[in-house]
Amino acid sequence: MPEKYHIEVKPTSPRWTPVGKISAIEKDGCFGCARCAKKSCVYDIYRNRKFDSKQMCDTIDYLCKMCFRCVQECKGRILSRAVNPEFLQLGDQYWKPNIIATIWYQAETGKIPVSGAGYRGPFSGPGFDSMWTDMSEIVRPTRDGIHGREYISTSIDLGRKLVRLEFAKDNSLISMPPPILDIPMPIIFNPFPWGKINKNVRLALTNAGFSLGIPMIIESEEYFDELRPYDSIIMPQFTPKSFETHKNILKRVRLCEFIYEDSIMNYVSKAKEINPQVIVSIRVKLNKEAEVVAQQLTQEGAEIIHLYADYQGKEYEEASPRFIKDAIRKVHLRLVEMQMRDEVTIIASGGIGLAEHLAKIIICGADGAGIDLPLLIALECRLCKRCTNNLSCPVEMENIDTKWATQRMINLIGAWHSQLIEVMGAMGIREARRLRGEVGRAMFFEDVEKETFGQLFGGRQKDGK
Ligand code: SF4
Ligand code: SF4
Repeated sequence: MPEKYHIEVKPTSPRWTPVGKISAIEKDGCFGCARCAKKSCVYDIYRNRKFDSKQMCDTIDYLCKMCFRCVQECKGRILSRAVNPEFLQLGDQYWKPNIIATIWYQAETGKIPVSGAGYRGPFSGPGFDSMWTDMSEIVRPTRDGIHGREYISTSIDLGRKLVRLEFAKDNSLISMPPPILDIPMPIIFNPFPWGKINKNVRLALTNAGFSLGIPMIIESEEYFDELRPYDSIIMPQFTPKSFETHKNILKRVRLCEFIYEDSIMNYVSKAKEINPQVIVSIRVKLNKEAEVVAQQLTQEGAEIIHLYADYQGKEYEEASPRFIKDAIRKVHLRLVEMQMRDEVTIIASGGIGLAEHLAKIIICGADGAGIDLPLLIALECRLCKRCTNNLSCPVEMENIDTKWATQRMINLIGAWHSQLIEVMGAMGIREARRLRGEVGRAMFFEDVEKETFGQLFGGRQKDGK
């Protein structure tokens, strides 16, 4: 049995009081009861609360677990809770406050978030929320815990695979197996969609990637000498122009990435001349052309195709862009149809914000995913985008301590690792490699709706037609 992949998570407190989901409200009129309801809080929050003078807020809004015990037990009815309007303003339509709060929790604790008391949200929604995973094997991981005896592997392979081996008449192997890299999580660290990251954050990303065994894409111009000890996980990204200036980095790394353009395979050949063992990813914009481009690149010998959507998971199309899960499904099925899917590795990025998104994009046909914003959010980013206008950062990203930041990112991936194992275990799948394209373990709202109501009411109307 292979050695188990283990991520060492450690509680790592936030530097700033996070924006709490609720506001704790306390009216006048205290009876002064001998047995005050505040003393019954099992989390001892009234004793631990502080006034954060830097942010001018009471930490109770973040610490309270919203069990409502104190609210119910207060005889004077002076305690109550309301949703914090500042919380509702976090993020945007896609990166909703709950996603941000979940990532903050995971980066702080390294644990799977437990909502408790049942799920109270809607059963379907846009994006990944219109896809449900089949948990009918749920007894399996709970038998002796997700890290118990049954080993569930989250590893995937990066690189091109041979579909058959060829032998000479004397039985010697003619086929040259291409280089393959086994990574322990189906994840690559993708460059952040906005904001310049400083040296400390870069070093933290590199440290976290190195300790987790996760590759990190870095624009070749951004590479600096202090990153040399981490070359085994560094994936320099080149354009044809930057290749000429920075191609020497290729001698030291195992992976690299080129931005797609028409003659890109010529540059892949040039990279292989410098280092025949380097595995090359080609970064392709996810749009209507992506299926054709992916097929063509696979036929031409591409090893990894990295399809990237925008930061909200939408493809780059002006008129009715598809969501990443639908677009990746099409690319995957096209390659399956052409009988070449197993030859190439597909990485999908854009809009992957939760561990469940990771499992879902793999079910839709990607081998793994590129993640970016969750790593920034793990460092307390509030997605206010002030940095894009050169304004000050409310959480002073520029003053970040490398060790602290490294652990926050390790905690986040630790929580995702546990969640991925839990999801796969519940689906009866022991390997992330076998999760790829397993749509039999998922349901899609659009399909269910069509099968159930389509025959009665016809298709769903779009744009008023
Ligand atoms: S609502 Fe529950 S967790 Fe929050 S302060 Fe009251 S008793 Fe404590
Ligand atoms: S908190 Fe705002 S300013 Fe700071 S990094 Fe995040 S988006 Fe940029």
